[in-house]
Amino acid sequence: RSKDLGRNSFQLYKPAMNARSLERLAMESKFKKALRTNEFKLCFQPQIDAKHQRLTGLEALVRWQSPELGSISPAQFIPLAENLGLIVELDIWVINKACQQIRLWLDEGVPFAKVSINVSALHFSQGNLVLAVQNALHYWHVDPHWVEIEITETSFISSLPEAKKVLTNLKKLGVKIALDDFGTGYSALSYLTQLPIDTVKIDASFIAKVPDEYGNSQIVTAIIALAKSLRLGLVAEGVEKAAQLRFLEQLECYVIQGFYFSKPLYPCEYVRFIAQKKFSVLASLPEPLLK
Ligand code: C2E
Ligand code: MG
Ligand code: MG
Ligand code: MG
Repeated sequence: RSKDLGRNSFQLYKPAMNARSLERLAMESKFKKALRTNEFKLCFQPQIDAKHQRLTGLEALVRWQSPELGSISPAQFIPLAENLGLIVELDIWVINKACQQIRLWLDEGVPFAKVSINVSALHFSQGNLVLAVQNALHYWHVDPHWVEIEITETSFISSLPEAKKVLTNLKKLGVKIALDDFGTGYSALSYLTQLPIDTVKIDASFIAKVPDEYGNSQIVTAIIALAKSLRLGLVAEGVEKAAQLRFLEQLECYVIQGFYFSKPLYPCEYVRFIAQKKFSVLASLPEPLLK
């Protein structure tokens, strides 16, 4: 069609391009403003050891509450931030906010457990992840054993040696490493032994289909066996139903993150959650002993 229109097609096409780049510009300025004006919030989803009814961790999950656009899901704005080249800035904000929250909980005597922080795969090729984590720990006076960094297999595509270097340096800081969304990406099982990974998170898409779907249950069974034989920690994500929990418990996979136990909670909600004392929290060492 545009061929028929010859030269004029250019004029027909151009306004659309402009609209798109204007929209992009508008989103970019909204996103930058959001970073400046604290429109992002962190919530924390409990990870529960179902065997001992114990809190073993909290995953920090970012939320954007925009006055103009309403509440926007990270599934939407993380890809946007990656496209705009602003993901490193957002990740650094999250790392700092999570450490600030840890400091608050320590000061207020709120029981909690290690906090997992998601970082984009792009953070491995841009920015300095190790320095960002080190600075935040230092600034908020937080011991590294409280922090775990969640990465995905996408982080290894561009350069495995580079990823290995970054992860090794993170481990040297004393933080833990979890491999998120395991099994969905560019999985090579050798990553598990080549890289200093502490914990594997079984992706929610697998959990959604157990115990009903035959092939799927076999995959989950195999992931659990593999992680156990490599002595890695395991977390099952997206557990919503008792039948899923029972299936995992039979395989001795006890650490669960999902709506079955709790949705992600804002700090004020978390305080109420933990005050119910439905779950214990492993007593941690007094702070001075950790220094
Ligand atoms: P993820 O890291 O795999 O996080 C788990 C997602 O599953 C969260 O979605 C959580 O709310 C959701 N979820 C947990 N339990 C259940 C359940 O039982 N059922 C269902 N249906 N969903 C459950 P959320 O918070 O929307 O985050 C989506 C993704 O956005 C995250 O997936 C992560 O990849 C990314 N993300 C979130 N926060 C950050 C962040 O601070 N930085 C970066 N770089 N990425 C983030
Ligand atoms: Mg995650
Ligand atoms: Mg995940
Ligand atoms: Mg994910």
